[in-house]
Amino acid sequence: MRRRIAILGSTGSIGTQALEVIREHPNKFEVEVLTAQANYKLLIEQAREFKPNAVVIGNDKHYSLVAEALEADMIKVYAGEQAISQIVEMDSIDMILVALVGFSGLKPTLNAIEAKKQLAIANKETFVVAGDMVTKKAREKAVNLYPVDSEHSAIFQCLAGESESTVEKIYLTASGGPFRGMNEEELRHVTKDQALKHPNWDMGCKITIDSASMMNKGFEVIEAKWLFNLRPEQIEVIIHPQSIIHSIVQFNDGSMKAQMSLPDMKMPIQYALAYPHRIKSRFQRFNFIDYPELTFEKPDSKNFRNLALAYKALEKGGNLPCVLNAANEIMVKAFLRGKVGFLQMSDIIEQCMAEIDFIRGPSLDDYMETDRVTRIRAEELIK
Ligand code: MN
Repeated sequence: MRRRIAILGSTGSIGTQALEVIREHPNKFEVEVLTAQANYKLLIEQAREFKPNAVVIGNDKHYSLVAEALEADMIKVYAGEQAISQIVEMDSIDMILVALVGFSGLKPTLNAIEAKKQLAIANKETFVVAGDMVTKKAREKAVNLYPVDSEHSAIFQCLAGESESTVEKIYLTASGGPFRGMNEEELRHVTKDQALKHPNWDMGCKITIDSASMMNKGFEVIEAKWLFNLRPEQIEVIIHPQSIIHSIVQFNDGSMKAQMSLPDMKMPIQYALAYPHRIKSRFQRFNFIDYPELTFEKPDSKNFRNLALAYKALEKGGNLPCVLNAANEIMVKAFLRGKVGFLQMSDIIEQCMAEIDFIRGPSLDDYMETDRVTRIRAEELIK
């Protein structure tokens, strides 16, 4: 039986790489649903190749173009944000890959859990904003959440066959990004083009900026807490510039397990889509002789303050991680448009965290409202 996959965000970096994995394994997977926000041309191309049952185009002004293009293939076409959230309930879907960016992933993820679908989650912001709610609901509905983030996939792989209670701590590795080792003065003047050149990983725009600013790692600390049920002090970030060790679990006898491979997002994507099976791949193999040195450093949280802000949000909880995420989304967009400097991003995020009303046990509506008011405040602070 082939596993029937829905990909939310099929035209993004994770979405296209997931389709590469599926293309390599036509006897293991079939594409049931594809969704895209605005890139209707690529969505049409993907639909013609993979013949899903249905597609959704988020931006409904492209609806008629997509519908016309796919009419002959008998593919159902829907449009709008609402349709992306609802399509996850379709009976014929076995597993959903959530490859949306930012806060937009939350509602479809909650709906998918409600519909008892197995979930591969690449959208870390969902855990950052509402990890508490998402993991609780997943437990209630007996839905498994499979990590697609490479570090979390590494932890997940290291935990196979182990009992959760024997985990002492985990080390999340970080490449350090393109600005590793820079001082405050240098960081003040870095440009978006420099930030967009990640040394090891080929990723989307948002996450590449988050990697340069270390916010990505901060988010991953929060993501790890919820995925693996850990306390903040059990999660440590270690800089590992070669990105070969993707993360490490330390057990209560002092033994450590690490997962290693060349950096390629298709590896964790494939592991999640095929779980619990490990399937053969043609990914390039690691060669020790090419890497005579694997090195490790302490993260610089003085100049890269986002990591400290994320730990603060995690420790305080409530709607604070939601504030962190919303302010960061606005900052990344502003940085890409040249409206704020690199260091200013952390300043404004910190200010939003101090100003926005704290809510201890937020409901979904509280999260929506926190997201909304934080975005407005962050925009004001740019001016
Ligand atoms: Mn990652």
